[in-house]
Amino acid sequence: MCSLSVPPPACLLQPCPITQRLMLGPGPSNVPARISAAGAQPMLGHLHPETIEIMNHIKSGIQYAFQTRNRVTLAVSGPGHAAMECAIFNSLEPGDSVLIAVNGIWGERAAEIAERIGAKVSTIVTSAGGYFKNEEIEQALDKYRPMVFFLTHGESSTGVVHPIDGIGDLCHKYNCLFLVDSVAALGGAPIYMDKQGNSMKVLNAPPGTAPISFSERAWKTKPISYFLDMSWLANYWGCDDKTVRAYHHTGPVSAFYSLRESLAILAENGLDNLWKQHKEVAEYFHKGLEEMGLKLFVQDKKLRLPTVTTIVAPPGYDWREITGYIMKTYNIEISGGLGVSAGVVLRVGLMGCNSSKANVDKVLEALADALKHCHKSRV
Ligand code: PMP
Repeated sequence: MCSLSVPPPACLLQPCPITQRLMLGPGPSNVPARISAAGAQPMLGHLHPETIEIMNHIKSGIQYAFQTRNRVTLAVSGPGHAAMECAIFNSLEPGDSVLIAVNGIWGERAAEIAERIGAKVSTIVTSAGGYFKNEEIEQALDKYRPMVFFLTHGESSTGVVHPIDGIGDLCHKYNCLFLVDSVAALGGAPIYMDKQGNSMKVLNAPPGTAPISFSERAWKTKPISYFLDMSWLANYWGCDDKTVRAYHHTGPVSAFYSLRESLAILAENGLDNLWKQHKEVAEYFHKGLEEMGLKLFVQDKKLRLPTVTTIVAPPGYDWREITGYIMKTYNIEISGGLGVSAGVVLRVGLMGCNSSKANVDKVLEALADALKHCHKSRV
């Protein structure tokens, strides 16, 4: 006699093996086996001394990845959006003014997050694939005199790496906090946080933990989010003067193991080597695309994000058919555009262990084949 009215779902009574796939979209990417193996290690308490040691290693690894000595450098429990909200919630209160440079979807999202707080939001907007000159940013800072300025450095929706040299100095001049959002995966686009004067930077590897760094002066005392309150997080990560770390939330212990391992790979290889590798592989890819007759969405080579390449969607084709064909025939993920670039581009990510010439050859072959087999209308 069963007293349960909802039976166990039949789907959960089946095994669920996960297929191998080459993940060459804008993320997530494949991770080396040692990162997956690290995540499968035995569970520990999130405040056990061994876990705290791992969190300390993670802090040092993120300081290295961001090239910063900011004491408050940690990983937020959650995806990149959690780090974005953490940075914005801790910098803005209702009525505070913020200037957001919108160069793709992440600026749009930042503006929406700030609006939801009740901040006074001003924006400057550039065309898809474009960027702001420092003079334009200075003019806007002068006009709006914001308390906070937000810029996306690695714009994964348009494939632009935004120049940031000198912007930290401009923010300093106008006495506003500078928030930088970036996707760089492991070793993508160079960032020197201390030299460039950034207060925040987001990097997503692997999904589920989101590195962030704040300069000391940066955050508000009582942000609207309890979960993302930087004072609590700083204590939980041992970045304050208190001797005891208090329970705030249960950290994703297994994800910490994996994140530590991915930062270990970064340390072993050296950031500068990884930057060089990503740049070389991206350039090899771009050359191959042009030889096939495809066009890069970002014309200026210096502005091309090495980790995520945007290709002008081939005229006459349905981009969905191309990505679908490549998935079905080659088991490779590539993706379409996002926000302003939706329907306009294809996006291919070559990040971390996926950044190799062998993968470039595979994706070029898959693209060439897709262009032969997918339907082309006369344009
Ligand atoms: N900012 C940037 C620049 C991103 O590219 C992304 C997504 N890759 C995010 C924020 C959001 O990250 P997530 O999807 O992990 O929430």
